[in-house]
Amino acid sequence: MEYSYEKSKMVQVCRILQDEGLFDGFGHVTWRVDENEILSTPKMPPGFATVEDIIHHDLEGNKLQGDKPLNGEQPLHLAIYQARSDVRCIIHYHPPAVIALSVVGKEVVPVCNEGAYFYEGTPIYDDSSLLITMEKGHAVANALGDKNTVLLRGHGAIVVGDMMEKVCRLAVSLEKNAQIQIMAETVGTPKLHSVEEAKTLKSVEESEGGLQRFWAYYENKLKF
Ligand SMILES: [Zn+2]
Repeated sequence: MEYSYEKSKMVQVCRILQDEGLFDGFGHVTWRVDENEILSTPKMPPGFATVEDIIHHDLEGNKLQGDKPLNGEQPLHLAIYQARSDVRCIIHYHPPAVIALSVVGKEVVPVCNEGAYFYEGTPIYDDSSLLITMEKGHAVANALGDKNTVLLRGHGAIVVGDMMEKVCRLAVSLEKNAQIQIMAETVGTPKLHSVEEAKTLKSVEESEGGLQRFWAYYENKLKF
């Protein structure tokens, strides 16, 4: 099967996020496998998708392979890939604590080590409607700018990056940080990680194999 490595990794990510309660009937994962070619989970509960369900399509959304329909919100993926040549993987989901912050106009800010990825900011796209037109796709790509995360007010979030495991980690860490941020704000004023602290954590993480350990944990957790 073409792109079987990528497809099976996408399926694993969907199962991990479902296992974590971050995917339910909705949410999607895409992977840019070539400049103009994308793999996408189809219009179905993503945690139940198989490698055979993954759709291969171009940057305009024309199918190259796959029987199932594309997600209604596919324009968000198309527009972000069109705007960001550095982005190879995208996850869109509806994490509850992140949504809670978005509706009070608060970005996710680094209050714990896992939040270090978000020190450059998590802009809020101030529109709760579904991203089902290219016009809205371009608007959300614009709101994302050069960041790795954009919050969608009252709706969810989009995380992007150059590797599937990294983007999965962003998805998990964004919600964890948001939960701690809300807990901390109920008992006082959180002291945030400084930019320097966040940068140091990121570089230690890279040199110490943090991503591999993250992946080993979540991948194996599915087997128990
Ligand atoms: Zn959505």
